[in-house]
Formats: sequence, structure tokens, C-alpha cells
Amino acid sequence: PVRVRFAPSPSGYLHLGGLRTALFNYLLARKTGGKFLLRIEDTDSARFVPDAVDDLVSVLSWAGLSFDEGPGKDESLGPFYQSERTKIYKDHVDKLINDGNAYRCFCTSERLQQIRNIAQKSGKGVAYDRHCLYLSQKEIDQKVSEGIPFTVRLKTPEGVVTVNDLVYGIVEFNDKHIDDTILLKSDGYPTYHLANVVDDYLMRITHVLRGEEWLSSTPKHIILYKLFGWDLPKFAHLPLLLNPDKTKLSKRLGDVKIKNFAEKGYLPETLINFVALLGWSPDNSKKVIFSMKELISEFTLEDIGRSGSVVMNDKLDWLNKQHLLHKTESKDGLKEIVNLLKASVKETFGERLKSTKDNYRLEDEYLSNVIMTIKDRIRNIKEIPKLCEYFFVNPNYSSQESRSLRKIISNEILKSTSDLILKKLSDLKDDESEFQIDNIKSIIQNIILQTGYKQREVLMSLRYIITGIKVGAGVAETMKTIGKETCLKRINKVLE
Ligand code: GLU
Repeated sequence: PVRVRFAPSPSGYLHLGGLRTALFNYLLARKTGGKFLLRIEDTDSARFVPDAVDDLVSVLSWAGLSFDEGPGKDESLGPFYQSERTKIYKDHVDKLINDGNAYRCFCTSERLQQIRNIAQKSGKGVAYDRHCLYLSQKEIDQKVSEGIPFTVRLKTPEGVVTVNDLVYGIVEFNDKHIDDTILLKSDGYPTYHLANVVDDYLMRITHVLRGEEWLSSTPKHIILYKLFGWDLPKFAHLPLLLNPDKTKLSKRLGDVKIKNFAEKGYLPETLINFVALLGWSPDNSKKVIFSMKELISEFTLEDIGRSGSVVMNDKLDWLNKQHLLHKTESKDGLKEIVNLLKASVKETFGERLKSTKDNYRLEDEYLSNVIMTIKDRIRNIKEIPKLCEYFFVNPNYSSQESRSLRKIISNEILKSTSDLILKKLSDLKDDESEFQIDNIKSIIQNIILQTGYKQREVLMSLRYIITGIKVGAGVAETMKTIGKETCLKRINKVLE
């Protein structure tokens, strides 16, 4: 059975690239009925960001990428924090040393810097000169007993290492370019290469799916697998992510933090759909909108491309709109976006909606009517409070936008439209039962016929009265959603 893992280092927050790696692993596991593991690669304490793991776990769950084994889940092959596995790595390094495949290196950082300087001057690769490989056992024992700090280096065997990558094909690496990599640091912590290989083996990983930037580390990993006598997993590297100008996408761009996208109101479905298409596209199909379910059934490693994938953030709004519309079609989906809207309305108008008579604007039914009224005009739930204030608070007729709209409506038309609509609405039953879209539409039609004004003029006046602004959903639909009582109040206010 397929076993894959997402193995982030908690050295920063989850970004687009990380989410894509997690997603592709997840999809492969779900598609094949395999297992998806989460492993925290936290052996580099210098680069540790304290709340990075919380961010990671919460973003994965927000995105719907549930893992089967990992911290707090099935931990039978754990622990899943590498910092809790140092004994395991040490035992494995000891085995490599005993077999003559690794050696202790006592070189000081000053000496290593000298080697680097010389190498750079001569234009050769910056490889370690194997000074400590040739120490006698006596010298080694002596240094160890004196407590001189050491690292452990891999004794890189000679020869060409061939990586057979499921995406990049056969890639050959010459040993001259492979350094005697450090496996264990002087603080006793393993380096990425050692810990990653040992854990992938012990956690029975069958497929290693990760970013292209790790392809050049893969020969080192393959050497380690061979020296330990272990079977190789399959490797698949995911194409680089690029900025629109084709430079490598910078992780530091604040905007690519997944949390930021969530805070801006993008749906998890949108982000998942968006990152799925970064490097993957289904064979022979122009389809671009995918639900998680569709991704699971259509995902294949064969459809991952090799060329760098440009991240076009401007596609996000369009995608978000599609997923929003889709959500309005189901009860559960609607409920979900109602909750998003509620949070955002509270955040925007909190205090102003406190009075019990305005509080209904936070009720699910009202919010869902708002969404259904304007769903075709929005791209993001978070836009609603800003773009459509009038659903929640009275229009601010003295705003810039209102005043310039008011200027183009003639006093006469505004006055007679307001008088007539007030009168006709008062003729309706007291409760809201006759305040229905069809009725409102025919009332508006009547006003147009009766006054002889243009439809456009009447609608603009009505929209001004009800919303204070120039654009929005249909006037009748908007009035119905806002409710008769509030509409009457606004008409009276304009007539004052
Ligand atoms: N810890 C590495 C990272 O942060 C994992 C790379 C791998 O998947 O092997 O990306």
C-alpha cells in the first residue's frame, strides 16, 4: 500500500509551495487507499519558529488535508517530531561508522572556512578534503576522550548515482559533485539528509513527493539507502513555483502565507484548486475547476509537468467566485459561507448592530438571503460588508459616492418616485406577506407607467433611496431582502 508523508520544517509558516506538496501527497494517498503521514522535521533549532507547527496543523485542517499518522494521531511508528528521535539517528550513524561508511570529523569551523576559500579561488567544487577520514583509530579515540567536538560525515562512495524520478526521469549525478555530507552535527542532532532517509525507511514511506529543490539532495539519500541495505522508495519531485517574471517564487512574500489567504476570505476549496493546478493538469482536458473529490479521482503522478509553474494570484478571485457559487447550491455549503459572512459582518459593524432591532441582520436566514441576492456580483464573502453596507446599516447618504449619485438624479423624479413607492407599499398588508419580489416589480412597473419617467431613472432613484449607491443586485430583490419596514424607513428618511 502507498504510504506518503508531508515533512515540513517548522522554520516558517505554511506557504503555497508547502500546501501543494501536502496536497499532492494527500491526493496520492486518498486515491490509492494509502496512508498520509505528517512528520515535523525540527532538527535545526537555529531556524525554529515557535508557532510554526500550530500554524501548519491548523492550516492543514482548514484545507481539509487530514493526515492518518502523525503528531496526535496514530503514533505507532512515531514519534513524529524528529527532535524526539535523536537516539534512533545516533544508532544509525554508529552503524555507518562501524561499517566504514561514515567517519568522525574534528575539523574546526576555521579550518573548514579555509578549505572553502581555497576551493573558491581555484574554482573547484567546495568539497571537504577528507582530512579526518585518514585519522588513525588511536587519534580518533584520543580526540573523543578529550571531548573535542566532532561531526559525522558520509564517506561518499565513488561512482555515478542515478536518480529515477517519476517526474524528471533519469537524472545522473557524478560523485565529484557530491560532498562528504555531514550526517550528524556536533550538537548531536542529525542533518536533514540522515534524518529524512532514516525516517522515510522506518515509517515505511513508499513514495517521496517533494519540491524540485530537493532533487539535488536525492543522490545523497540514495547512497544512504544503499549503505544501509534498504530498498529505495519511489521519488517524484514537483516543479518549481515561479513569480510571474519567472524568478523563483519567494517564500518570504508575506502574501503567499496560506493564513493570509484565509484571512482575506478565500475559501479552502479555492486554495486547494489553485495549488492543485501548480504543476499538475489532467490529461487532455481543459477543466480548471475541481472539488477535492474530483481531484482525488483524477490525480495521477503522470500528469505532473516538469517545467516551472507560474503562480498567478489574480486567478484566485475568479476561482473563489466559482467555488462560492457552488456552495450556494447546497444547504451545508450555504451554511458554511453564512458563518463566514457572519464573522465578517460582526467584525465590520459589530457595535452598530448591537441594538436588538438591528440584530436580525446577524441571523442565518437574513445572511443567507443577502448571499443569494448578490451571489452573482461578488468574488469573496469578505467583500460583502464593504460593497453592500446597506444590507446591514443605513446608507450613508452623505458619502462621496452617494452625493455624486444624488447629483445626477433630478429632484422631481426622486420626489415623485419616493411619494409613489411610499404610498403603494403602504397599501400592502401590514406584515411582509405581500412584500414579494413579483409584487415589488409590478409596483415599480406601475410607477414607470404612471409617471412616464424612464425605467432607468426610476430604478436609479429607488436604488439611491434603498442603498445610497449606484450599483447592486436587482432593485426589487434588494428591497425584498432588506425588508419592508427598513425600506419604508429609508424612503421616509429621503423624503424628510
Ligand atoms: N523538511 C524538508 C522541507 O522542509 C522536507 C523535504 C522532503 O520532503 O524531503 O521541505
